[in-house]
Amino acid sequence: MYVIELADEVIERNKFLKENPHYDNAKRMACFYVGSTRHTVRCRYNQHVQFGDPDMEGFDCACFSEPTFRYFRGRHPKGKTRGNRFVGQYHKYLRGRMFKHENPFETKEAAEQREEALAQELRAKGYGVWQN
Ligand SMILES: [Zn+2]
Repeated sequence: MYVIELADEVIERNKFLKENPHYDNAKRMACFYVGSTRHTVRCRYNQHVQFGDPDMEGFDCACFSEPTFRYFRGRHPKGKTRGNRFVGQYHKYLRGRMFKHENPFETKEAAEQREEALAQELRAKGYGVWQN
């Protein structure tokens, strides 16, 4: 599981705001993306950032084997979608202290459950959150 802080202007995007109907614009608390991955958190972050850059065709990954170049969908027929548009456009940095101590999770399901719970906790505290 990982948390990326986003520039708070992301709240001005309708889809993001719709997921955060109780966000208080006067307080302008931080906005986050919460996700989970089989990759290292750093690799996953690079995927998001590089996916947000239309000039990048893919990213280097050495998480599971020898270093491999993996293509993005739309930039290669066999590529995969590896980014979220809000992260691609508004990413600031990984917020390690918010998640590092909880990794790794036993299963994908456990990570996804925790991801959802953390998103709810953060929203309850007034933060803006995207999670899917
Ligand atoms: Zn990787």
